[in-house]
Amino acid sequence: MATAVALRRYQNYIDGRFVDAQGGKTVKVENPSTGQIVSEVPDSSIEDTREAIRAAEKAQGDWEKLAPIERAGYLRKIAAALRKDPEHLARVISEEQGKVLGLSRVEAGFTADYIDYMAEWARRLEGEVVTSDRPNEHILMFRHAIGVIGGIVPWNFPFFVIARKVAPALLTGNTIVIKPSSITPNNAGEFAKAVAEAGLPAGVFNLVCGSGAVVGQELASNPSIGMVSVTGSVDTGVRVMEAAAKNIIKVNLELGGSAPAIVMADADMNLAVESIKASRVINTGQVCNCADRVYVDKRVADEFTEKFVKAMSETKYGDPLVDEGLDMGPFVSGDQLKLVEGRVKQAIADGATVLTGGKRDAGRPEGYFYPATVLGNCRQGMPIVRDEIFGPVMPIVTFDDLDEAITYANDSVYGLTSSIYTTNLDVAMRACKEIKFGETYINRENFEAMQGFHAGWRKSGIGGADGKHGLYENTRTHMVYVSYDLAAGNKK
Ligand code: NAD
Repeated sequence: MATAVALRRYQNYIDGRFVDAQGGKTVKVENPSTGQIVSEVPDSSIEDTREAIRAAEKAQGDWEKLAPIERAGYLRKIAAALRKDPEHLARVISEEQGKVLGLSRVEAGFTADYIDYMAEWARRLEGEVVTSDRPNEHILMFRHAIGVIGGIVPWNFPFFVIARKVAPALLTGNTIVIKPSSITPNNAGEFAKAVAEAGLPAGVFNLVCGSGAVVGQELASNPSIGMVSVTGSVDTGVRVMEAAAKNIIKVNLELGGSAPAIVMADADMNLAVESIKASRVINTGQVCNCADRVYVDKRVADEFTEKFVKAMSETKYGDPLVDEGLDMGPFVSGDQLKLVEGRVKQAIADGATVLTGGKRDAGRPEGYFYPATVLGNCRQGMPIVRDEIFGPVMPIVTFDDLDEAITYANDSVYGLTSSIYTTNLDVAMRACKEIKFGETYINRENFEAMQGFHAGWRKSGIGGADGKHGLYENTRTHMVYVSYDLAAGNKK
């Protein structure tokens, strides 16, 4: 593996100061396109994490006392700082994560927009007034901050997911400790610089880099944490829930997915092909909401498969920092490459046929590259259809009628996103009712909006993010019963 020419360093951000891990330990960060080491970041300990939690706890009371509009002002300053050099941010994201530059630019811009969007809620936070059974009573519901939130972030949209956790938490009066993935921590260091530039009070936002087993577990099990919010795999969600159970704290889990895409015989075939391809190759297939398995009506299976294989085989991939005109970069890591290669090998052993892709380009010894792949002859129940793939690999299964397609789609431990392609309104309406997923996309690629509510069913998670409902996940309720004298003011 090549060594870096100039190794950059990022630090933790605790109580308003950039600091190293107390023991000075670091981990190295790799560019997955080249294998080159590009930076080192703190490998933090439990004590580093506790220090950040203490700082967040100390800052929380005063932060919550500010009017929401004042907190929104700080959020807007973070967004403005992030907008100063979006190209630099995009390159940092592409360098460590491997996504194509165009998508990193979208991620950098969307992150700032998301923070501004959450700031807009400052004048819209609402409680409730409920009627009482007593004539002399008002029942009021307030929403208060939870306290200190632990935010654990994955590597696939690392920059945006920080904002998804930070903006609603801070707007509602919480303070936060963020832990990025050890694979993609550099962009989190850039986020902390924007927070410092925005002049947030010390301790309101803290960043602690380190492993899930140490920093992540401390965030989930420390008694001063009020809610732990994790985006990651189901295994991690289980471990975090177990640790959080000790203190009975709230968990917010955004976990894995295996999204079905149903193609009906009446579908606009070109739209279905393009949208499903877009949803499969974006970020090299490493997206929780990506289309993961296609169910196509037998009558149009040949037509769909031919067009889909052609579209997937035209997918261009390479090093995002070298080539601008790409559809995909590399996998984020060698482990991720091995995982997906293993899934494809297993599928072939189970009887699947490789229609395009299926093996690495022997001419590319460096970088974790893998081609867009289509697998035919797949059946419900095969691991490649059942499990989350997290790579640009699409298994195709055929069905006889809508009942069968919906049964197949719902037959999953996951329940995050789903899609259906049809020109028949009755079919679309049945799908809205019978597809048991947190999100269904009808005649479009899978990708949620910031004003929606991204929340999975079954093992895809608990709670959710975005929009009004995502904002209120960061609050707890306080019911107040106000009894008053009905004759008040009339007494002599
Ligand atoms: P991961 O679970 O390996 O890691 C996610 C984060 O959890 C990292 O910061 C990691 O260090 C931390 N972590 C790991 N073990 C931990 C533990 N025992 N305790 C506490 N923290 C721990 O996931 P990943 O590989 O970074 O991301 C890919 C996964 O995330 C996929 O399954 C994907 O579907 C899911 N994901 C879901 C969403 C969503 O919105 N539902 C979005 C993005 C990614």
